Order: sequence, then structure tokens, then C-alpha cells
Amino acid sequence: MADLNHMLKLLNELDDQIVGCMRCGMCQSVCPVFAETGREADVARGKIALLEFLSHEMIKDAEAVKERLDKCLLCGSCAAACPSGVKALDIFIKARAIITAYLGLSPVKKAIFRGMITKPALFNNLLALGSKFQGFFTTPVNDIIGSSCSKLLSPLLGDRHLLSLADKPLRGNGTIDTAPGLSGLRVAFFYGCVVDKMFTSVGEAVLKVLRHHGVGIYMPVDQVCCGVPSLASGDLKSYEDLVRMNLKVFGKGDFDYILTPCGTCTSAFHHIWPLMNSGFSQSERETIAMLADKAMDINAFIADKLGVSKAEPAAGAKTVTIHDPCHLKKSLGVSGQVRTVLGANPNLKQVEMAGSDVCCGCGGSFNLQHYSVSTKIGKKKRDSIVATGADVVAAGCPACMMQIADMMSQAGDRIAVKHPVELYAQTLG
Ligand code: SF4
Ligand code: SF4
Repeated sequence: MADLNHMLKLLNELDDQIVGCMRCGMCQSVCPVFAETGREADVARGKIALLEFLSHEMIKDAEAVKERLDKCLLCGSCAAACPSGVKALDIFIKARAIITAYLGLSPVKKAIFRGMITKPALFNNLLALGSKFQGFFTTPVNDIIGSSCSKLLSPLLGDRHLLSLADKPLRGNGTIDTAPGLSGLRVAFFYGCVVDKMFTSVGEAVLKVLRHHGVGIYMPVDQVCCGVPSLASGDLKSYEDLVRMNLKVFGKGDFDYILTPCGTCTSAFHHIWPLMNSGFSQSERETIAMLADKAMDINAFIADKLGVSKAEPAAGAKTVTIHDPCHLKKSLGVSGQVRTVLGANPNLKQVEMAGSDVCCGCGGSFNLQHYSVSTKIGKKKRDSIVATGADVVAAGCPACMMQIADMMSQAGDRIAVKHPVELYAQTLG
């Protein structure tokens, strides 16, 4: 079991945060899981009521507590809509850590988080192997989306339509370390696991934008996962190991900003690392605070720091609609900047979808554990996208891109799924 003092500290923090809930039920109307299941237990209010008696409930039926906590996308819609300012996301993250410490981590998750993701050399080699052999197991199904399906792996993957692993990861560029150019700025580039291994075009677009605008780049290839998947599964040990590895690489802070093209990774630096820092030393906490101050989403950087200007749509411009990822809009407040970045591309005309900031239903491990609920939520997002008649959908989070691609590919839609930075980079020579 994890350090008892650490767990007691988290329990006390939970108690302090839970008292703010007035049981008003405003969170019901925004919770995508509740909209599908209609169960009070699945909404923030229901979970918070359970957590009030967490120590007691854990002894009574810890598995049932875990099941209820896991039925959550950690999308933060409830926290964003809560009139009492209850930080439901913070509460659920801490509660998952407590219950996992009490129950222990499942063998599968132990193998994934402690045996693989925290062993970067092994993790990278395994995925490189996967990328080599994926063609033997999958059949391409949609050339616009670039998705495939796999009958052979369907016991593992269900009906999912997947995007391929890249032939060569972004890390294949090697460490980049350049001085500030004309902009006078130098940034660290945290690409995140999915961009490194799947959406390398997003990473290349970020590099192109930075070079074009004369921004110095520090992109170390020994960076590792931001730790959010570990934390979402309640595994504090692998989370803390990953954060420490990243602190070693980025701790010098000899850059103006640390940029990511992933809403979840930015929110990890900015919000989650400072929230879950009680297991770290004083000097590590100071480094975490420094990185939190410097963390910035790539769209916000392009719009607010590089100051791009709007272009009038050219004749024959394609239509693009925008999905606002939960961690990007609800946690970081970045949404207008995405529209600014896309507005700089004269070959695009923007068309808003209904409920652009409604969760797409991915939720990381939620998609693995509760695929049928995840799919029901995702199909609504797909319908909203299709209703716009857009040629392209832009989303500033690689996990959302995977979920939307899956939903649209399964429906046979021919709408491209792109990251805003890819669409902006198209405008640069
Ligand atoms: S909206 Fe906030 S205060 Fe109201 S029930 Fe939900 S979590 Fe509690
Ligand atoms: S985080 Fe999202 S899924 Fe979880 S309770 Fe809040 S609104 Fe519902």
C-alpha cells in the first residue's frame, strides 16, 4: 500500500473540497455520462455524496466505490458549470489515487504503467515494433481519415477504427536545441506520447511554425509521458516517476514557455502537477510551479504570442468546424485562440457546430473500460460535426482526434480530422 501519511493527507484534502457541494444538481445537465446512463451515481453530485463517507465506504465495498469513480470521463464539464466552484475534477483525481492505494493496482495496469510507460526505452521499442507489423493485422477503411480496422484484433479492440502508428516517431528527429531567432523567444516542446507515436504530422507542423516565426526550440527526446494516464488510473507511483523524469529534462527552465499540442498535456503541467505535488520535495515542487507558469497550449502561443492575423477566406475555401476539447477549453480557457489560428488560413471558412465544447466521449481509459457509453457520446459529437457540412474538423487534442476519427470512420464519413496547428502550418511556405 502507498505511504499511509500521503493517503491521509489526500483524504483530508478531499474532505475540505467536498464540503463546497450544495447538492444543487446543476452538474446533471452538463454531464455526458449522466446523459447516457441517467444514473445519479454517475454524475458529480452522486460521486461527491459517496466520497463524503469514503473511508467508511472503502471498508464496506471498495470495488463498488472504484466502479463508480471509474465511470467518469474526467472531462471537467461539471466543475466548469458548478455555481459553487466545486473542483470536481480535482476531487475525483485524488479519490482515484486513494482507492487505488487501498485496493492495489490491477496486474494489467501494473504491467502497462510500471512495466512499460515508465520504461521509455522499452515503451518506444514496443511501439516501433507495433508500427512495423501493424499492416499485417489491419485493413485500411477510410482514406480521408486514414483509419483502419482489424478483424484479427477485434477481441481486443472491438469494432474500433484506428489510426496507424507513424513509421518513424517524432523523436526520430533527435534532440533539437536552438537559440532564439527573430522573435527573441525560445520554447521547450513537449510533444506528448500520441503526437510522438501517431500524429507526427502535428509535431512536424509545430516545428515548422516555430522555425517560420524565428522561435528557438528545445525538444529533448528523453521526455516521457506527462503522467495523466497513470493518475487517471489512480497510480501515484508511476505518475510520480514520470513527473520526476520530466523534471530532470525540463527542470533547467532555460526557455520562455513550454508548449504542447495536447490540451491534456498542457493541463497536466499547468494544473495537475501542482495539484498532485504532495509526494515531491520542496525543490521539485518549485520546479513544478515554474513549469506550470510557463506551460502553454500551441494555439494560445500562436494567437497570443506570435500575433497571427486573420485572412479573408479565398474563393473555393474548404469549410472547417471546431471541436473544443474539454481540457483545452474547460481547464485552460483556450477556445478563441483556436479560431484565430484557423482564421489565418485563407483556404478555410469556419462553421460552428452545435455544442462544440460538449465532450467527445473519449476520456482516455474511459474509452477502454466503457466503450459502449463512450461510443454513444461520440456518436452525438459525430452527428454535430456532420450537420455542419464541413470538409474538415479541427481538434486541439490528439485523444479527441482519435475518438472523432473512430466515430466518423465507423459511420463512413469523408471528413478529415486535423489539429489546428496542421491547418495553420499549411499557410506557411
Ligand atoms: S453543480 Fe456543484 S454544487 Fe451543484 S451538485 Fe454539482 S458539484 Fe455540487
Ligand atoms: S467529469 Fe465529466 S463525466 Fe465526470 S462527473 Fe463531471 S461531467 Fe460527468
